[in-house]
Amino acid sequence: MKEIWRKGLRNLAVAATALSLESGDAHAKNVPNTEIPTHAASGEKQDYAPSRLHALTQPFEAVTSPEITGGFPEGFDLYHEFGAFVSLTTDEERAALLARYADRLPTDPSVIAAFEEVIQDRGIYTAIQAWLVDGGLFSMGTWGRYVPEKKVIYIGPEDYKDTIVHEILHYVFDKYDNELSEVRVIGGADHFAINPIVERFHIVESIRHGGNPLRLVGQLGQEERSLGERISLSVEANAGAEIAQSLDEYYRSATEERVDALIESNRSLDELRSLHVRLPSGGALELTEGGRSPEPVFLISPERLEIFVWKLKPEHVHTILLAVPHEEDMNEVQRHLEQYMSDPTVGERASLSISQLQDVAYLEAYAVALKAQALYLAVRFSEKRGMPLSSVFADPEYQRMYRRAVEILGKHQERKPNQSLYITARRAVDRLI
Ligand SMILES: [Zn+2]
Repeated sequence: MKEIWRKGLRNLAVAATALSLESGDAHAKNVPNTEIPTHAASGEKQDYAPSRLHALTQPFEAVTSPEITGGFPEGFDLYHEFGAFVSLTTDEERAALLARYADRLPTDPSVIAAFEEVIQDRGIYTAIQAWLVDGGLFSMGTWGRYVPEKKVIYIGPEDYKDTIVHEILHYVFDKYDNELSEVRVIGGADHFAINPIVERFHIVESIRHGGNPLRLVGQLGQEERSLGERISLSVEANAGAEIAQSLDEYYRSATEERVDALIESNRSLDELRSLHVRLPSGGALELTEGGRSPEPVFLISPERLEIFVWKLKPEHVHTILLAVPHEEDMNEVQRHLEQYMSDPTVGERASLSISQLQDVAYLEAYAVALKAQALYLAVRFSEKRGMPLSSVFADPEYQRMYRRAVEILGKHQERKPNQSLYITARRAVDRLI
């Protein structure tokens, strides 16, 4: 479900709000989501830190796609390393993987070129390899989509690299059996975590190719966009001192804005209740309550029956049974719907827990810190080399140093995640220059 979700968190807030208007569900889980805890070592500014509960990778008890399971070995680090091109694969490893599974990859040479590039990152390589070992297949489709029931990842007609990384992350969260993936509401709550990780990939990948991280197109908030535009003007004007001064505000404002959007989205999601069950045919029934429509709205495919309705009522059951694509599933669908209506504890709430929110806030802050770090390094590098800021990004030595700075940040955060991300990011640059 990439086409809807690629726009990021801001759109999730809009989508969730649209679905939840007029819903007055009395069973809404009371999530204390007005504030996400921040941490910092003594003497440092408050900043976001992960919950340390592995809230995004912890297995969830009610697993809905049991065939994709088992998680990843230690050392596979979604929080810091995945997509950051810090740990790189060898030419031999990449060639061997692509040759071995050639029959499960598209044949289009430009798609293969995208695979060759993204699997330079060891985390992405490991995830793609695990998907292929699990029997997964990549195929061309009308848009990007992860379909675990058929073990297919569809790649859309554009942005191959972006689609591969986005869709393989759906697999990663599914393989962890994490709640974000297993509770499938309006396209998957794992998008909360996927978006900032894909953004991390974008930032680092763009710098590897000589790009200025501020030119990245994305769905940024108002504040982050306008501060970014101001810094871009300073890059053009070669005003390094001004940039160095505004980075602090840039990091704080952008992070706060993102966390506010996260909390807002979560508040909307809290009003949605869902049911996800596997059916005898192998397909899935997915019901989401809390939308605006008083009558059921259907999305039907051979492998999935999705139903959206404000409040499920006994008189809807007949209509729903008529929409079931496989006759053998009808009794089970009826039984599940009746159980769902009679027992309010059946089904799931889509909203994130406080530790999940905290971890996603950390991923968002990490993405902003990587941008701020690239800009701070650019300023220091241009001072040292007497080089105009606008040409720094294309310099291979700058690109090499940025990779080191990202590596130092990641390794440090892995050990001491409660220290300020932003301050650690700057210190890593100071160490290198
Ligand atoms: Zn998606």
